[in-house]
Amino acid sequence: MSDQDRGSLQQLMAGLAHELNTPLGAIQSNRDVLNRAVARISDILADGVVDDEEIEHVRSLAQTISEVIEIDQVAVDVIAQLVASVRNCWRPDEHEKRCVDLHRGIDSTLLLLRHELKNRIKVEKEYGKLPPVFCYPGQTNQVFMNLLLNASQAIEGEGKITIRTYEKDGHAAVEISDTGSGIESDSIDRIFDSGFTTKGTRSGMGLGLRICREIIERQGGAIEVESTVGKGSSFRVTLPLGGCEEVAGDL
Ligand code: ADP
Repeated sequence: MSDQDRGSLQQLMAGLAHELNTPLGAIQSNRDVLNRAVARISDILADGVVDDEEIEHVRSLAQTISEVIEIDQVAVDVIAQLVASVRNCWRPDEHEKRCVDLHRGIDSTLLLLRHELKNRIKVEKEYGKLPPVFCYPGQTNQVFMNLLLNASQAIEGEGKITIRTYEKDGHAAVEISDTGSGIESDSIDRIFDSGFTTKGTRSGMGLGLRICREIIERQGGAIEVESTVGKGSSFRVTLPLGGCEEVAGDL
């Protein structure tokens, strides 16, 4: 594993830990509320006599408990979604091509990047109708992750990333456009070169565009870029369609 990959994984894991912390914190503080409620009910029942006022109190405690359970359910759902996204994005599928729904893969990737994007970058999805694509799902997701990360890092302060998908000329196309810095014309021919970065050695993360291009070309596809300095960039990934008669599996 290269230093760059290690840095990327570390940063992603830090983001994930942060994302998991919020629902975990909610479950932890809810546990205190539940403990107190149960202790209070035990107190009320201890003498074997329950007066009207105490019944009212137990009713309100029951209401609190059911609210807490609902919040816990939301927190558990968030954790489950994050775990599913990690699974979707890091399947050991080097040698396994499958028919998949690209939108699900992009959505999983976005969930993992939520910490990086939220409050700063608006993500607009313009998903078209895409048939299943026969590809290496884990690697393809990592390409989307790299492009989305680059897009977010190109945006200083607030901005927007638009993800557009469509079918054209027997290919599935995914366009990731940002309102970021754009790319200088003397750099644009070099961004797919090995080791080219304008971010210094540590802050760059992800696979790097050279590996992204390799992954996509190995699957018979292409990555192209258009960019205007000061306005933003748009990366288009195309992958050939065909080979998937039945409905897509999970990505
Ligand atoms: P890294 O992100 O580690 O620098 P990449 O290979 O992913 O490596 O990207 C190479 C360079 O391409 C970046 O350093 C940056 O200068 C440029 N680049 C890539 N994507 C964008 C983008 N969306 N907007 C502006 N510049 C970009």
